[in-house]
Amino acid sequence: MSQEKVNLLNLTFPQLRKYFDSLGEKPFRAQQVMKWIHQFGIDDFDEMTNLSKKFREILKEKAEVRGPEVISEEVASDGTCKWALRLDGGQAVEAVFIPEVSRGTLCISSQVGCILDCQFCSTGKQGFSRNLSLGEIIGQLWYATRSLGTMHTSGVKAVTNVVMMGMGEPLLNFNNVVGAMNLMMDDNAYGLSKRRVTLSTSGLVPALDELIKYTDVALAISLHAANDKLRDELVPVNKKYPIKILLDSVKRYIEQSTAVKKVTIEYVMLSGVNDTEKDAHDLAALMKNIPCKINLIPFNPFPGTDYVCSSGNRMHAFEKTLMDHGLIVTIRKTRGEDIDAACGQLVGKVKDRTRRLERRLRKQEQLVNVQTHLD
Ligand code: SAH
Ligand code: SF4
Repeated sequence: MSQEKVNLLNLTFPQLRKYFDSLGEKPFRAQQVMKWIHQFGIDDFDEMTNLSKKFREILKEKAEVRGPEVISEEVASDGTCKWALRLDGGQAVEAVFIPEVSRGTLCISSQVGCILDCQFCSTGKQGFSRNLSLGEIIGQLWYATRSLGTMHTSGVKAVTNVVMMGMGEPLLNFNNVVGAMNLMMDDNAYGLSKRRVTLSTSGLVPALDELIKYTDVALAISLHAANDKLRDELVPVNKKYPIKILLDSVKRYIEQSTAVKKVTIEYVMLSGVNDTEKDAHDLAALMKNIPCKINLIPFNPFPGTDYVCSSGNRMHAFEKTLMDHGLIVTIRKTRGEDIDAACGQLVGKVKDRTRRLERRLRKQEQLVNVQTHLD
């Protein structure tokens, strides 16, 4: 039986060096191959022309660069692009690219489903299936960069920012997420600065305290409520790590970070639930001593939810109250609505679509079978 090939997309830089060492190659080869894979988006060893022919043959025999299998690509009227990626085992996750005038942001998934069960999140309502591997996480950026054009093919960097705000809780897939973020920031790979890679978390305090020991990327906290009673309900992990404990950890993160001066506070706007004037004043009081930007997120509905997004007027009034307290506030623009690519809408329909696609493929196979019988 032939041995399974090593997928180089699954390896961090130190792991790649170690692997090449085990093949008897010099460590600097790892740097060259990193560049081919991540900077140039190359998956064919024959195109890695600065490697010896002999080494290329060895790599072809023992290794591969296998990106995700893309099962659908949808482009919204505002240019937002959503890919559904099939994983080993048949499940799917989604990645979303949001083009803007001065930047291009890729929203990446870290898990299939999520165990934390936030009440307003369609991923949470799906339950947890599994963690993505390092290759499946970085594969989303690798694929998007290849498909939108690398620096070398188009002369511009299409993806300038990455946000870990797709499906799943990144801090529950710690090692793979940290490994993938290190590749995002590696000059031999994607070369993004720490400020342009954002990890969003619902607030797993021990993991957040651990994160700062490894990296200090930009941080977004999914707060969504200004008191523990409501947050216990909306973000159940709050029962374990209540608001004060979480915000103390956020303060430690900012203090220890060399790059991050402000944390982003995410607050989903749920009509009649967390959007009153009192909520706004309470939120401002909580944030008094925390360097932050508040991002109000219009709630994106999904099938089966009872929540409704706050009205435009309410959101603006809420924003104004926070601003009157001297806070920096933005209302997140909802992008890609017509293709269900907005925050919290990822997945449910992917599963349906995957099933539809599988049914279609099975039908096609049956047709082909019928055809061959007829032939
Ligand atoms: N698990 C992480 C990252 C993924 S969720 C986290 O919770 O931060 C990314 C962001 O989308 C979070 O702020 C989350 O609260 C928000 N979100 C989830 N469902 C949403 C919905 N239906 N509408 C708007 N935002 C939502
Ligand atoms: Fe998980 Fe984030 Fe959704 Fe909460 S909001 S269920 S932590 S993905």
